[in-house]
Amino acid sequence: MMNTKEIMELGEQYLMRNVGRIPLAPVKGEGARLWDADGREYLDFVSGIAVNSLGHCHPAVVDAICRQAGKLIHCSNLYYIEQQARLARLLVENSALDKAFFCNSGAEANEAAIKLARKYAKLKEGAEKFEIITALHSFHGRTLATVTATGQPKYHKGFEPLPQGFKYVPFNDLAALEKAIGPATCAVLLEPVQGEGGVNVASRHYLEGVQMLCREHGALLIFDEVQTGLGRTGRFLAYQHFGVEPDILTLAKALGGGFPIGAMLAKEDIAAAFQPGDHASTFGGNPLACAAALAAMEEMLLGGVVENAASTGAYLYEKLKGLGKKYPFVKEVRGLGLLLGMELTMEGKEIVNGCLERGLLINCVNNSVLRFIPPLTITPDDVDRAVAVLDQVMGRKNE
Ligand SMILES: *Cc1c(COP(=O)(O)O)cnc(C)c1O
Repeated sequence: MMNTKEIMELGEQYLMRNVGRIPLAPVKGEGARLWDADGREYLDFVSGIAVNSLGHCHPAVVDAICRQAGKLIHCSNLYYIEQQARLARLLVENSALDKAFFCNSGAEANEAAIKLARKYAKLKEGAEKFEIITALHSFHGRTLATVTATGQPKYHKGFEPLPQGFKYVPFNDLAALEKAIGPATCAVLLEPVQGEGGVNVASRHYLEGVQMLCREHGALLIFDEVQTGLGRTGRFLAYQHFGVEPDILTLAKALGGGFPIGAMLAKEDIAAAFQPGDHASTFGGNPLACAAALAAMEEMLLGGVVENAASTGAYLYEKLKGLGKKYPFVKEVRGLGLLLGMELTMEGKEIVNGCLERGLLINCVNNSVLRFIPPLTITPDDVDRAVAVLDQVMGRKNE
């Protein structure tokens, strides 16, 4: 067994420096708890970035993975895969969409959505209708097309030339979209709550207006629910808060209970634009990933998990609001369910590090927004413990 220092040294020597790594080497998890290679325990309010919604190593997911691994790990998508078809049925029955495509990540799900929207528009309206409008501060992935869809120039820098056909508008600004949308628009791609961009919640009025503009201009509405989906916001899907149904929906993060899998769902007539050979993935929807996701989603739908995200989310929100009243450097607390953000009037890095030292994992987005994305299974006790740590760290900052 290696200790933290040894693991860090090995990583420094052999891994690319494509991310800024935190000096922590997790080796074991259970529920909302995580242990590092030196045996220190942490309360995890990051959850693998909204992946471990059922907590670490949920027994139903572990059991499904172990049993499936002993039977069939992989086979080609040229064949019918029982777990894949059953997972598709479960997602369709619990959403407004009709057909599913499986892949391995959020970026791949959005990549598939972009390709489907373009193909559909091309078949229906002709070659000129290919533009996709996305929001500033959005996040849609790191492949060339999805990073281009991502409305944050800092992620584009150095990778030009970017693929054509993407346009950005300010989020929650209907007038700006009305100006940008036109006959060339094939789709509008949005997150109902922007996660990486700073936990920005769309207004109902905005999403209703977006849907109307899309219909008026024959453009598809795509919701990227890679982060907001699957219980995170206190509903199974975030769009259910707003009464606005998308034509295409993308999922990933929490779908596999920690195992990598992504999905792109679409309405029947739109899905039909993909003909045999149009799009595929070698690993996407393999038996092991789908068995993990089936177990995770059955647990999510039967176990009162989504309801807990709503109620414990409301509890955490109130506690964070309380800290906001106490500390003048808190600008705003916002979010939905257990996707909450606390915007500061300063950088959040020091507070994140202070919490890490005291055994609480949180992260910071957009420089100044502390983000809270714990497992959806956390208890009010976990919230109290986390808020007490945060209070200590913020108190020191206030001195
Ligand atoms: C994380 C995320 C993605 C990208 O998912 P990957 O699995 O990292 O490719 C896309 N969209 C949103 C909203 C996300 O939060």
